Amino acid sequence: MSDYTKILLDESEMPSQWYNIVPDLPVPPPPQLHPGTLQPATAEDFAALFPKALIEQEMSQERYIDIPGDVMDVYKLWRPSPLFRARRLEKLLDTPAKIFYKYEGVSPAGSHKPNTAVPQAWYNAQEGIRKLTTETGAGQWGSALAFACAQFGLECEIWQVAASYRAKPHRRTMMEVWGGKVHPSPSEITEFGRSLLAENPDHPGSLGIAISEAVSETVTGDNCRYALGSVLNHVLMHQTVIGEEALLQLAKVGETPDVLVGCTGGGSNFGGLAFPFLREKLAGNMNPVIRCVEPTACPTLTRGQFRYDFGDTAGLTPLMKMHTLGHSFIPEPIHAGGLRYHGMAPLVSHVYDQGLVEAIAIPQLECFSGAVQFARCEGILPAPEPTHAIAAAVREALACKESGESKTILTALCGHGHLDLASYDQFLRGEMRDHELSEEAIAEAMAGVPVLAD
Ligand SMILES: *Cc1c(COP(=O)(O)O)cnc(C)c1O
Repeated sequence: MSDYTKILLDESEMPSQWYNIVPDLPVPPPPQLHPGTLQPATAEDFAALFPKALIEQEMSQERYIDIPGDVMDVYKLWRPSPLFRARRLEKLLDTPAKIFYKYEGVSPAGSHKPNTAVPQAWYNAQEGIRKLTTETGAGQWGSALAFACAQFGLECEIWQVAASYRAKPHRRTMMEVWGGKVHPSPSEITEFGRSLLAENPDHPGSLGIAISEAVSETVTGDNCRYALGSVLNHVLMHQTVIGEEALLQLAKVGETPDVLVGCTGGGSNFGGLAFPFLREKLAGNMNPVIRCVEPTACPTLTRGQFRYDFGDTAGLTPLMKMHTLGHSFIPEPIHAGGLRYHGMAPLVSHVYDQGLVEAIAIPQLECFSGAVQFARCEGILPAPEPTHAIAAAVREALACKESGESKTILTALCGHGHLDLASYDQFLRGEMRDHELSEEAIAEAMAGVPVLAD
């Protein structure tokens, strides 16, 4: 095995359970709160939004949950996904470090998102739900959910952030091919959307606004539920197939990571990769440094506050204690659309607050420069989001070159960028810019975060 490039698993080696980190955490994560009573949210509070099985998973204290057979069957269209050793990039960087990346771009939608879209659609179908609504930014989540709904005969209605809807027509076509119905957000369909369009007919939209629209349609719709592609506990849990497979793959070549880096938008691909390794770290079986990487234009962990805030702009969701820039925060239109969310998964925020993981922010020019180097060595053209993970891996590998340490670095290449070529075009032409985010912009949005008594 000394000259391997990719490490594969057989279908028979696929993990058959998802991992829930909650029972293993030294301090339990704070509960979500009902926005009216400010009491811990109950299963009934979520009943209009999610099917019972997913609400149970959201609140579960079980360490492992069996993956249903029907879901395993769909997973097998692309899982187990390959783990690569980036030998050509290591050589280019002239580093003694070993760089491994788990590639999730092999899924039908081209990202890690179907890992949760498929079980979410399946549990809804099991409970007789007819239609799912959701929001999407760059279109990755919308396309994953449209694909998953097509697998189980569900309708799928999607609010796509208007700026992306206009800039990324191909993602919309992809959603439509899989049977999804796509609206730009803000839309004329919801009251909230109409009010925003009245103020600004060219409103660029945001993920928080699109969530408000999808949620309001769900609660008024018949036999309809909502699906979220990141942030929530059950979403991160579904994504742990990434980390569980990577653990098995690294074991095959006798490696354990010294450093694990992952890009964080809502935190799902990061949690999916990192939590099985954090379990091993907490159990004393390995000791990797685990690091979140976010864009400097939307620095939720590194510059936001750990507070109770809403998941959406209109304030319809339960209050979640999370790192937030404020639910009214609208980041600059950087290319990594999936990293432009104002909040961060409560579980990722909690482990960061507990000092179990670190966080850094990287500007997009450094990210694309790393991604172009990566593509020329490794062939794969990364989505704009994981360019942040790659840039962080490159930083770490160059630090190893300085210090002479031969660390093992692990990251997730959580999607390919074949539908994001306009961003590469802008980078190659020298037209991409980094955006400075002022303290005032953050303070302004933070002023709208609810103030709760302790
Ligand atoms: C959606 C998306 C992200 C951001 O979401 P997380 O929940 O933080 O993973 C990152 N990368 C890709 C490719 C995505 O599609």
